[in-house]
Amino acid sequence: MASGNVAPPTDKDGIVALDKPTLCGTISEARFTARERREARARKPQPWVVRKLMVVVTLGIMGYTAYVYGGRFVLRLINSGRRREAVGLLVPWSFLYAWMVWAYAKVIITPPGNACDYTPKTPQPLFPRGQWEAETRQPQDPDTDSASASSDASLADIEAGRIGGPAYEELPATHIPGTSLPMPNGNGGPRPPPPRRKSSTRSRGDSESRPPPGRFPPTTAPLLPPHRWCSRCAIVKPYRAHHCRVCGTCILKFDHHCPWIGQCVGARNHKFFLNFALATAVFTLYTFGSLLAFSVMAGRGGGGNGDEDVDPQEVVVIALAALFALFTLSLGAAHTRLILRSQTTVESLGVQRMKERESAALAAAGMGCFDVGAKRRARIAYDKEWGVPEKEGNIWWAGSARAGWEDVMGRSVWGWIFPIGAPLGDGLHYRPNPRFDADGRWRRRSEWPEALR
Ligand SMILES: [Zn+2]
Ligand SMILES: [Zn+2]
Repeated sequence: MASGNVAPPTDKDGIVALDKPTLCGTISEARFTARERREARARKPQPWVVRKLMVVVTLGIMGYTAYVYGGRFVLRLINSGRRREAVGLLVPWSFLYAWMVWAYAKVIITPPGNACDYTPKTPQPLFPRGQWEAETRQPQDPDTDSASASSDASLADIEAGRIGGPAYEELPATHIPGTSLPMPNGNGGPRPPPPRRKSSTRSRGDSESRPPPGRFPPTTAPLLPPHRWCSRCAIVKPYRAHHCRVCGTCILKFDHHCPWIGQCVGARNHKFFLNFALATAVFTLYTFGSLLAFSVMAGRGGGGNGDEDVDPQEVVVIALAALFALFTLSLGAAHTRLILRSQTTVESLGVQRMKERESAALAAAGMGCFDVGAKRRARIAYDKEWGVPEKEGNIWWAGSARAGWEDVMGRSVWGWIFPIGAPLGDGLHYRPNPRFDADGRWRRRSEWPEALR
């Protein structure tokens, strides 16, 4: 609870005794209550009105931009006798504005895909007795019921790495000793690497003598029904679906919850989300460029009658356009990269974490910041042994960048630009990468199907 403070006296249930209030006790109590409230709030989905608030704000910003550009800037040009310039600016601007509003309308009215509409409610699936119970128990929280701890596979849990199967080194023997052949019991996970314990007490001298420790892919077996169970919706989530706490439901191919569109980005509207990011980037760049150029000219007295003042409202729109141009350009680039890799935002976090573990392991093996060459060689060796994380190590890798792109954006090139058409993927059916075992764990190259090695 409140760390860094002297613990106030508590009764046997751990409740702060308040009959003799102390300053520390009062602070702790307040913190405890605030945290309880915060957590209760986090468990509840946001009210509909709150979720849609940013849509109203976004529409307001769009409306204001139209007023300043059309109602003030262009009108000022016409009034100062520069009709041809005004029309020349206004026509493409109107086209870009319509493109952006159209894409925005599509992304806010297209539901991302609610997993509960396609999946029947079921009782919670459990791991086979004895095999997983010990493994799914969270070591840092021994009182937590293992089943419920592993069941709540929400985004925060995934991000925090709190869900997952056993660590490799804790798995029962999965292979026939001395070979890479899986045990006949079918639990064909990868061979466990040499024992590795996270230890903050290990001395540097000890770690320096170790050889590079190897790659540690995520230990979660994401395809097992107990790991796909959502306790809030009481469903076994389809592949790639996740629960959104804000919306309070499971979303097909959940990417992230976007406050700007007032809903999640998922299987059905990811395409429109990217269409919208592209349209907004082009629109804001055009608005920024044209307004800035004419404001500079007006400021210098270069255009018209020379004594024009710079309109402060135009300056506001220039600033807004610059801000949103940067935002949507980086957002669009990030999502394009993810889609070409057949990954969602939430899935990319898993790869990112694995790379962080790898870096930490290399550092623990004595490779400092300046051992760039040695680290690179180690990573090349890992890729040789396991494959490239973004492709061979990506359970949903569609086989090529093009296939990943079409799964989200559809086949039509027009649909890549404008919010028309639909994604190829239905958000429900995905073929796991054959480089993974049946439970969804990444296997070494030597264990891949022959044709893929
Ligand atoms: Zn759910
Ligand atoms: Zn959501």
